[in-house]
Amino acid sequence: MSVAQAPAGLVIAVDGPAASGKGTLARRLSAHYRLPYLDTGLLYRMVARAMLDAGHDIRDADAAGRLVLTFDDGAFAEDSLRGREIGEAASVVAAMPAVRSGLIARQRRFAAQPGGAVLDGRDIGTVICPQAPAKLFVTATPEVRAARRHKELAGRGEPATFEGILADIRRRDARDSGRSDAPLRAAEDAVLLDTSALTIDEALAAAIAIVESRKAR
Ligand code: C5P
Repeated sequence: MSVAQAPAGLVIAVDGPAASGKGTLARRLSAHYRLPYLDTGLLYRMVARAMLDAGHDIRDADAAGRLVLTFDDGAFAEDSLRGREIGEAASVVAAMPAVRSGLIARQRRFAAQPGGAVLDGRDIGTVICPQAPAKLFVTATPEVRAARRHKELAGRGEPATFEGILADIRRRDARDSGRSDAPLRAAEDAVLLDTSALTIDEALAAAIAIVESRKAR
């Protein structure tokens, strides 16, 4: 696919549940539009990693509220952030208002770069960049998402059963959607993209069509 020229300030917000395909899509959109990309889930994973490394109980909101202000986002190997346990821990700290508010400024700074940016997460279109011209809400059935995550974890050499992963996904969906601060939900002006039956290339083509239609408005 050809590389498109991004107009000044094109912010693309990509939200959706775990393993919906939003990360892959966001990365591909950032290459297509030559925009910098931020995986905001990694920030929550870093806070969770810092909590566990420091020996805190992951539910200790006071400790998390302190750590979110001081953690070094260059200090973690990406591999140490990608595992199953850390995804679960990230969704626990992500429900804490002090953690969410502590991460807002750096996400907004990233989005404010000249030219724009692509950010993916849970609340980009609703809280972090409500003014973004292009918002996608990427979904897939829990079973399809579990199958994708199963394959990804197997590729990392992390053994897990399909049923265990499906249970993780359902639990994380419930926690991310049920929290009171910035729950996972589509912004009113987001376009829904269900990737359950799409290949990555098909999903990318659909996502580009959505962004192009938003740019034209
Ligand atoms: O996207 P990823 O699975 O890496 O995110 C890990 C966890 O971080 C999510 O389950 C969610 O609880 C939290 N998160 C969030 N808001 C974001 C990105 C991630 O609450 N913008």
